[in-house]
Amino acid sequence: MDGNFNENDLSRVVEADRAHIWHHLSQHKPYETTDPRIIVEGKGMKVWDQKGKEHLDAVSGGVWTVNVGYGRERIANAVRDQLIKLNYFAGSAGSIPGSIFAEKLIDKMPGLSRVYYANSGSEANEKAFKMIRQIAHKRYGGVKHKILFRDRDYHGTTITALSATGQDERSAQYGPFTPGFVRVPHCLEYRRHEQDGAPVENYGVWAADQIEKIILAEGPETVGGLCLEPVTAGGGVITPPDGYWERIQEICTKYDILLHIDEVVCGLGRTGTWFGYQNYGIKPDMVTMAKGVASGYAAISCLVTTEAVFDMFKDDHTDPMNYFRDISTFGGCAAGPTAAIENMGIIEDEGLLENTVTQGHYMVEKLDELAEKHSCIGDVRGKGLFIGAELVEDRDTRAPVSEKMVQAVVGDCMAQGIIIGATNRSLPGKNNTLCFSPALIAKKDDIDHICAAVDAALGRVFT
Ligand code: PMP
Repeated sequence: MDGNFNENDLSRVVEADRAHIWHHLSQHKPYETTDPRIIVEGKGMKVWDQKGKEHLDAVSGGVWTVNVGYGRERIANAVRDQLIKLNYFAGSAGSIPGSIFAEKLIDKMPGLSRVYYANSGSEANEKAFKMIRQIAHKRYGGVKHKILFRDRDYHGTTITALSATGQDERSAQYGPFTPGFVRVPHCLEYRRHEQDGAPVENYGVWAADQIEKIILAEGPETVGGLCLEPVTAGGGVITPPDGYWERIQEICTKYDILLHIDEVVCGLGRTGTWFGYQNYGIKPDMVTMAKGVASGYAAISCLVTTEAVFDMFKDDHTDPMNYFRDISTFGGCAAGPTAAIENMGIIEDEGLLENTVTQGHYMVEKLDELAEKHSCIGDVRGKGLFIGAELVEDRDTRAPVSEKMVQAVVGDCMAQGIIIGATNRSLPGKNNTLCFSPALIAKKDDIDHICAAVDAALGRVFT
């Protein structure tokens, strides 16, 4: 095989895939007897595979990314024009689309003012961790270097980002890890009965107080940062309980801990506000974002900080060590911010934040209706078009269904032409949640289709 085939020769594409592609998140043995799925085309909320089969995509490109839907000529044309004008320049130079997008972004993020460009969510998070570490060195003799992360949260694929993962199934075989990362408990109210001492009343405040206890045990003078997802994504679509964020904010202020919010999934409209944290009145010091920033039309991520964080890196300009010694080669690609400008423009012009709120409420209602019919649905939770339905064997004990059952539901929906997700392959009992994150353009009809498929699938799988 010589790679000498064109895109229309789809059987050759499949052959080359089987021979040479190492797929993400996949065990490859099954591909010896079944074809890998290749997505060939997309328009709006739909994608078509190599067999010409149409699918309604309820997970925005598999992993919560294509917020504005497929086939957006407005983005493609802008990127094309920019690439011809200037595709790339990096190092310490800026760019026109970089400046324009930064100003637009900051306009949506009161209290924050500096944008650092990178390429992926993991990378943006690593940069936030590096800033926290550097601040510890500059200000606190290296002592205030620990970074807290939460059980069930995920912050990326690199070894240090994995050192901050609360999903053991993802990190289990990749240690040893970077030292100085400390785990704090999750805040999933539906599973509070698994947490020693968790109260029925004021669970949110209790869950935040557990973090304070850990800070005190570690020594507040050693803790520099707290990194949290506003709504936990792959860990089970966990919406924060009432009172949680207010208490978190108090704790960070009290102990002078930088609050780093990972908006890699929630950023750019997923929860019906520009950023997930804006639902909860949080004032972060650092925010990272990636997936929805350009809806997958170009690779881009951003780390956004307050001016106070930025100022710490310029307070002594005569010191040659006193700046953020970091670069991303592809942080200089002009396609990223160009696509991001248009992506944001589409969200504004088409009223997609409002649509996300409306359709999100509708979808939760529909799933609650399904829960009346299917006792395997133990909990429906979400914010905007970021929704999970946790499956249990028994509503009283809340014993989770097996991963096999969850995958059977996902597979049944797929056979019906509806792509839904499930939170990560898991340790027993950890993740058993169906996951829905359609593009922010979803209409009532789309939601009806998705829910009808889930209804039929649950009926067949849990007979
Ligand atoms: N943070 C969160 C909350 C994520 O869900 C992900 C990816 N699923 C990442 C970080 C890592 O992003 P990336 O895959 O772009 O490195």
